[in-house]
Amino acid sequence: MSRTPFVAGNWKMHKTIAEAEEFVSGILPLVGDVDDVQVGVCVPFTALQAVVDSTRGSSVQVYAQNVHQATNGAFTGEISIPMLDELDVHGVVVGHSERRQYFGETDAALREKVPALLAAGLEPILCVGETEAEREGEQTEDVLRRQTTEGLADVADADLARVTIAYEPVWAIGTGKVATPQQAQDACAFIRALVADRSAAAADAIRIQYGGSVKPENAAELLGLPDVDGALVGGAALDPKSLAAIVQAARA
Ligand code: PEP
Repeated sequence: MSRTPFVAGNWKMHKTIAEAEEFVSGILPLVGDVDDVQVGVCVPFTALQAVVDSTRGSSVQVYAQNVHQATNGAFTGEISIPMLDELDVHGVVVGHSERRQYFGETDAALREKVPALLAAGLEPILCVGETEAEREGEQTEDVLRRQTTEGLADVADADLARVTIAYEPVWAIGTGKVATPQQAQDACAFIRALVADRSAAAADAIRIQYGGSVKPENAAELLGLPDVDGALVGGAALDPKSLAAIVQAARA
């Protein structure tokens, strides 16, 4: 099956509403009508409404960067799925390594978040990836197996293909160190095989992104790999021209 490539920019804790609007004005003329690549931006909570409004009618989709699994409750500082749904966001990136490392995100919470998002009609991007020490200790496959199987454990087989998985080696995020094409391909193929253990059809359809220091200069090689269906982009997604160049690389 041919899978539509999916390029998502993750702004992390960058951009005020005014800066977000400026980005949207810059990117819409470049990719606003691209229909052969799915394009998303993962936006801080405070700018979500503005970016949803200013991208409406274009092909740029808006994602949040985290969500709580409960519908509501005494969870000070958290944001629920109905709150995001009300803003009309397209989906949410969950399990980013920065959330796992600095904010205690667990596989157990992700096991609840992913199906809860799907039940609400929102698209999850589930991030998985090993640290440098885990790679050096030859634990990469164990980590990917644990994070992927746990994150998808309560997703029905029929819904698996609605999840996007982002393979992001932690040592490559924001460091300028990029996985070699062989490392990226091997990890993404391994993740696809894990999905195939559940459903061959879902494994064929699910999108697996590579993330970790993707730039316009290295995007074509990474996006051309057989099991890499797109990219999750941090630093290079802060500038509209550079994110647009990565989207163009995904079209080739
Ligand atoms: C990310 O934030 O998910 C990421 C991959 O960042 P960068 O592209 O800057 O490495």
